Amino acid sequence: MIPFLDLRATYIELKQEIDEAVARTLASGYYIGGPEVEAFEAEFATFCEAQHCVAVGNGLDAITLALRALGIGPGDEVIVPSNTFIATWLAVSQCGATPIGVEPDPATQNIDCNQIQAAITPRTRAIIAVHLYGQPADLDPILAIARAHDLRVIEDAAQAHGARYKGRRIGSHSDAVTWSFYPGKNLGAFGDGGAVTTQSAQLCERLKLLRNYGSKVKYAHEVQGVNSRLDPLQAAVLRVKLKHLDNWNARRQGVAAMYREGLREGPDLLLPHVPNWAEPSWHLFVVRSTKRDELQRGLEALSIHTLIHYPAPPHRQQAYQDAFPKLTVSDPYPMATSLGRSVLSLPIGPHMTEESVETVIREVNRLIST
Ligand SMILES: *Cc1c(COP(=O)(O)O)cnc(C)c1O
Repeated sequence: MIPFLDLRATYIELKQEIDEAVARTLASGYYIGGPEVEAFEAEFATFCEAQHCVAVGNGLDAITLALRALGIGPGDEVIVPSNTFIATWLAVSQCGATPIGVEPDPATQNIDCNQIQAAITPRTRAIIAVHLYGQPADLDPILAIARAHDLRVIEDAAQAHGARYKGRRIGSHSDAVTWSFYPGKNLGAFGDGGAVTTQSAQLCERLKLLRNYGSKVKYAHEVQGVNSRLDPLQAAVLRVKLKHLDNWNARRQGVAAMYREGLREGPDLLLPHVPNWAEPSWHLFVVRSTKRDELQRGLEALSIHTLIHYPAPPHRQQAYQDAFPKLTVSDPYPMATSLGRSVLSLPIGPHMTEESVETVIREVNRLIST
């Protein structure tokens, strides 16, 4: 059996360190906020080459609070990739703003920078770039467009812990970079968690207010904030795991290198394209195939577990049906829709054995050629 990702293996590898961190936190008397959370924020900011880090409850809240902290709200439009996890869109909707999709470049599956300009209107306030699958989006053109139109830029880096764009770590290129520590991410907690990194001390203060009931001083509420805090147990676990992230990412990169070397690209199998300025975190290894469903079924029959990220893009979800009532007549984001029908995520993770990678390569090549 080859699992898609062996989450238990990360605990088993670090059991002693993690158990100690959990015991230390339980004994500390701090169960909300406190030294573990502050230490994690400082350590994660350093890892990201960013000035500030504000830890929050999850990745969705990280995006929502970053938008709110940047002053985005009702009546505003925010440009988002049409091809992303729904959280990117929901965050915009939760602020009362409207997500405006821009189609992906089929080669990278990330937002096509050449199509952003056409989506800008007088109401546009921000662009959210998503580093989908851990592949950095092309930030320089996005930042240039934003500068020209006085727009804010947020990066949804929920899949990109440790990735680099033009040699510099993801974490400080734009106004705010948002993170998720959902268990399956490259840096994952044993529960929910999230963060925002930023170069702005002002934005950092604003985020600290928003995540804590709009309050800096107990029982004085400056704004209508929310309750979205990273808990100290998760912070303590993340501090342990952060020390191993580079090593684990290197192991993911090793898996990706074997796939790229061994899988036979052809009309029925397309491999991820990595621009020369990108160092992906290899959160996912996503291939595209016209025979995707047969391929997935064939692998499943051999107990090789794969997943689809994502079968349907946000605009085709029931949650957005009011905004897109005429999809059967015309689809505004056909590229995102068609990717949903052809993408397949192969098993990848820091604990995947070379033998398992070889098995996947052999079976994919065999299934595609028959
Ligand atoms: C996981 C993920 C999120 C949301 O993170 P949660 O912590 O689950 O809320 C947002 N955006 C992307 C691209 C993700 O992969």
